[in-house]
Amino acid sequence: MPRSDPVAIPDLHDPKDLTQANIDATINTRSAGFYALGSLNESKVMSVSYVGRSDDDVAGKLRRHIGNFQAFAFAIAASPLHAYQGECKLYHALKPSKNVLHPVRKPDPDWACPVCGR
Ligand SMILES: [Zn+2]
Repeated sequence: MPRSDPVAIPDLHDPKDLTQANIDATINTRSAGFYALGSLNESKVMSVSYVGRSDDDVAGKLRRHIGNFQAFAFAIAASPLHAYQGECKLYHALKPSKNVLHPVRKPDPDWACPVCGR
């Protein structure tokens, strides 16, 4: 990893167009997860403008973004805390233009951003 990039970007599934059909086809479980939204260029490289998470239903959360973003990439998380940590890593690594605030944590002392400790 380059020294200028100290934040490991979590692995996401390959980006796809943000449509109901693609969400249904790729997320067949109701689960916590985190995601990146943005646009795809001709080489299918994603330009990320927003990151988010869901503590219990990442597919449902993504459906609410249909129409607002062209493409999505996501990862299923084992727990809400893992989803938060993944969201934080994406947020710090990518600095998406549409995320005005740091990801919001639950008021739980065990929850802390793995990058900045918030
Ligand atoms: Zn942070």
